This record gives sequence, C-alpha cells and structure tokens, in this order.
Amino acid sequence: QRRVVVVGAGMAGVQTAVALREQGFTGTVTLIGAEPHQPYDRPPLSKAVLLGKAEGSAFDVDFEALGIELRLGREALGVRPGEHELETGAGPVPYDVLVLATGAEPIMLPGTEGVPGVHLLRTLDDAERLRPVLARQHDIVVVGAGWIGAEFATAAREAGCTVTVVEAADRPLAGALPAEVATRMAGWYADAGAVLRTHARVARIEPGAVVLDDHTRVPAGAVVVGIGARPATAWLTGSGIELGAHREVVADAHLRTSAPDVYAVGDCASFPSGRYGERLLVHHWDNALQGPRTVAANIIGEATGEPSAVYDPVPYFWSEQFGRFVQYAGHHTSADTTLWRGDPAGPAWSVCWLRENRLIALLAVGRPRDLAQGRRLIEAGTVMDPRLLADPAKPLKAA
Ligand code: FAD
Repeated sequence: QRRVVVVGAGMAGVQTAVALREQGFTGTVTLIGAEPHQPYDRPPLSKAVLLGKAEGSAFDVDFEALGIELRLGREALGVRPGEHELETGAGPVPYDVLVLATGAEPIMLPGTEGVPGVHLLRTLDDAERLRPVLARQHDIVVVGAGWIGAEFATAAREAGCTVTVVEAADRPLAGALPAEVATRMAGWYADAGAVLRTHARVARIEPGAVVLDDHTRVPAGAVVVGIGARPATAWLTGSGIELGAHREVVADAHLRTSAPDVYAVGDCASFPSGRYGERLLVHHWDNALQGPRTVAANIIGEATGEPSAVYDPVPYFWSEQFGRFVQYAGHHTSADTTLWRGDPAGPAWSVCWLRENRLIALLAVGRPRDLAQGRRLIEAGTVMDPRLLADPAKPLKAA
C-alpha cells in the first residue's frame, strides 16, 4: 500500500486528498494541518463569516467515509526527501509520496508584530477576532487596497464602521491590474462611503491612530493589514527542495518539485504555464481546486506508468467588493490590445485582453456571462474579431 502524506489542510490539501479517492487511489491518505479547526474554506472569511452571516465555512467533506486520516493541530517542521520522511512536532511521518500544500501567510507591516489592535485576515481565528471589532463600529484603517483590503473595507462599511484605506501606490490593486483598469475601481471606495488615500505610507501606529509618512494622523480604533501574502515555506529551508524568487516551491508542469516523490500545489507553489509562456504563482481559490486533480492523477499514474497529466490552467478568480461581483480569467501581461465592453463608470462592464487577436484574459464586473463565455474562448485560443468584442450588447463569441 502506497502512503500519500499531504501537508496543509486548506483548500489545496483537502482537494488533493479528495481527488485521490475520487480517482480511485487505494493506498493510505494522511492530511496534516497546523490549524486546530476542521478544514475550512477561506473566501467566506472576508465575506459572510466576517459579518456573522455564516457561522463558519468548514468543507462539506466526510473524511472518515473517504478513508482520509486527518491530523490537525500538527505543524510540519521539515522534510528529508532522501529518507522519504516528514518531520512534525509529533515526530517523524514516513511517506511514499508527499504533497506540499501549505498555502500562504499574510505579510505583516514591519514593526507592528504583536501591536494590540493590528489585525491580519487569513485564518478563521483572524476572522473571529475581527467580528467583534466590526461590531464595535470603530474607526478602522485598512492598510493596502488589494483584494483582501477591498473586501474587508466592504464588510466594515456594511457593519457601520468608518473606514479609511491607505495605499502606498497611486491606485488600488496596483500589483494585480493595469493602471487604466484599476483606476476605474478607485471610485468604488467613495461610493461605499470609505476613504481611499493613495500615495500613503504608514510611518507608525500609535494607540488610537495610524500616522502616515506625511505626518497625517488617521484615527484608528483598529488596523487591518492587507498588503499581500507569501508562500508558507520557511519550514522547507534546508530540505533541498527548490524554492523560487518569492520563496515559493518551484513545481514543474506536472506539479512535481525538485525532490523525488514530492509534489506541490495551491498558494505555496509556482508552475510553468505553457499557455502563457511564464512561471505563474497564483494565490486564488480556483488554482487550489484544479491543481489537486492534476497532482492526484500523476500520483496514481506514476504507479501504472501512464503518461503524466500536465497542469496548464486558465487562471480564474472572483472578488466581491463594494456591491460588485468582479471576476477575472486568464493572464493579461503579454496582451497587445485592450478592449472595453460597456462603460466603466457604470455598474457592469468588462475588459478583454488580446494577443494577436486571440483572447488571453478578461475582467468582468457584474457581467458573469462575459466571464463564462470569455473563459471558454481563452481556453480554446479562438481567433476573434476585435470590433465585435467591443459591443456589450452582443455575446462574446468568435468572428
Ligand atoms: P491555504 O488556504 O493557505 O491553506 C494552507 C494550510 O496549510 C493552512 O491551513 C495552514 O495553516 C497550513 N500550513 C501551513 N504551514 C504548515 C505546516 N508547516 N504544517 C502543517 N500545516 C501548515 N480567492 C478567490 O479566488 N476568490 C476570493 O474571493 C477569495 N477570497 C479570499 C478571502 C480571504 C480572507 C483569503 C485569506 C483568501 C481568499 N482567496 C480568494 C484566496 C484563496 O482562499 C486561496 O487561494 C486558497 O485558500 C489557497 O488554498 P491553499 O490550500 O493553497 O492554501
């Protein structure tokens, strides 16, 4: 019986264990997770769970019935790939195949570790700590106008808090979207009654206030930091497993790492995208759903000598912010043409990115049909007629 050990009981780890069983794996499957809670889904933490509209977001998976052994509250401390052994706080765990799915951890604002009233939002514990903060209807300062910052600001406004978002760049989502698109989203903050301060850097946090580097004092009953996340891989230092520029596990097109019999998937790993011709490090939910199916197929295929499955997805994510449903598919960095569908000042519009008349990425705001149609066209690599694309009244389809 082959023994598969999965480290990290988040979306990617759970889906790997489930996909192994769905695809007929009969060996043992052990899922090891540092958090003490029953494995849960993260997106609701900045939405329904944060607002107390949902108690929790535990995955609806019957681990026992699937023959998945859960070891929760256990942290992996290291790997010895030569010996096929994982080191944990509760002693060594031998494996035949190891899957790294330790996700990412939020980046703290330097110098604010342990400062009372400064919060992160990554775990269920974080969300539970933040619920009463929202209920107190404080003045809240959010540091970072990224996806998490925008979603937290949305929830905090809904809870009746005064919200100021401070962002070092000149616009929200500076790391994620081109300026011409992201600047159209800046107005959403004001629409929701939140203040967005761009070009604003935090100098220090004092009791009751955030002081910016231009000496402005912004009143703050609580501070929420959303300045990004980095792969949770410190524990792999010294293992010999290759880490990349962002300290992520470097996986190949089959999601194998540089060590034999060790795979990596989800927020902790990057992979070479054949479709986009560059290495991608994706921190979104759909990647933690799709990647595990490839990992499971390859673990099973290895034993039977079948050809390896290649992971080459069209990345997808969504965000719910300021009453809008934002969806994105693809990867736009190599686009040669940007086309708008609809008026970006209005409630519903999309942006299409093309390369040599093929759709390579799409952002849809309140236009889920564009997203669904566009995603298929991106996958198929269909040649498009750009003039037809720009008419929002017409469905997205090939010439
Ligand atoms: P994680 O979910 O981070 O899970 C990794 C698990 O591994 C964690 O439980 C961690 O405790 C555990 N672990 C780490 N180190 C160790 C160790 N050494 N030993 C044992 N266990 C360890 N994506 C979207 O597409 N749309 C959204 O709307 C959206 N909303 C989000 C809202 C929030 C608040 C957050 C935090 C994320 C959101 N995401 C969203 C991103 C999405 O949730 C992640 O991409 C997804 O959770 C990644 O899954 P993962 O399993 O790779 O990593």
